[in-house]
Amino acid sequence: MAKFEITMLGCGSGIPTAKHMTSAQIVNINERLFLVDCGEGTQTQIWKYRVKLTNLDAIFISHMHGDHFFGLIPLLSSIGLMLARTEDLHIYMPIVMVEPIQYDLDKYCYLPYKVILHGIDTTAREVLYENSTMTVESIPLEHKTPCMGFLFKEKPKANILLPEKCKEYGINCTEFRKIKEGADYITPDGRTIPNSELTKPSDYIPKSYAYCSDTSYCPALAEQIHGVDLLYHEATFVESEKDMAATAGHSTASQAADIALRANAKQLAIGHYSIRYNDEDELLAEAKSVFSNTVATQEGMVISI
Ligand SMILES: [Zn+2]
Repeated sequence: MAKFEITMLGCGSGIPTAKHMTSAQIVNINERLFLVDCGEGTQTQIWKYRVKLTNLDAIFISHMHGDHFFGLIPLLSSIGLMLARTEDLHIYMPIVMVEPIQYDLDKYCYLPYKVILHGIDTTAREVLYENSTMTVESIPLEHKTPCMGFLFKEKPKANILLPEKCKEYGINCTEFRKIKEGADYITPDGRTIPNSELTKPSDYIPKSYAYCSDTSYCPALAEQIHGVDLLYHEATFVESEKDMAATAGHSTASQAADIALRANAKQLAIGHYSIRYNDEDELLAEAKSVFSNTVATQEGMVISI
């Protein structure tokens, strides 16, 4: 089975504390790694949880609040020092971040690899990253500063060849790749054999993961992530503090669960907890009362989809 797992590196908001680090996660899709947000101390968490950064493909930063990116420059520097990386590294971030981050890179980093910063319009939905098996799309979010979430989505698998049919038409194996990708087959005497006669669709159901932090309660978000296997949604406050949540551009645990319900998500993971809470019991209970398949993320937790 294809690997698709998320390692939680930081589940708190605002500042790092003895209990929680600030936002950061590793998404591992078939051993290709993606870092989502990079709060202060993210590299320490990476070494602690033995994340293999040699497989790091790209970094995605949701917005320009310190608890989501203060660990970025130190991490990039360490990747150069510790791993001697030479391969280009692409980082996707709101447009407003590009100039200051580029300044820091130029001023403080001496890297053996090239960092390519992509400034993203956070108000538009677009494909940011694509490889042969998956895509990452931006998700516009509502926050106090330009902010986006990320939707990691596997592509549908190629059709499955029907060997007896290929044999019947004497098809050479050099044609198999094109046929699996959907091409019809033309016989040597010019007849067209439709693809549907030579293949059947794969029964593999592509998996998906949505990262939504930070955002105020936004019901329209549900449409954009409909049917997602796992939704990470910030739950900074409890419902009794929903006015404060709205003012600060954040959500409550109930609101996060409401989005999961509306989106018909299979599972909800909450995080980005305010430092005012000693534990997550109240936040989790509140979310579960709306959407039962909810987990409260903790540092080191790995969720497989
Ligand atoms: Zn924020």
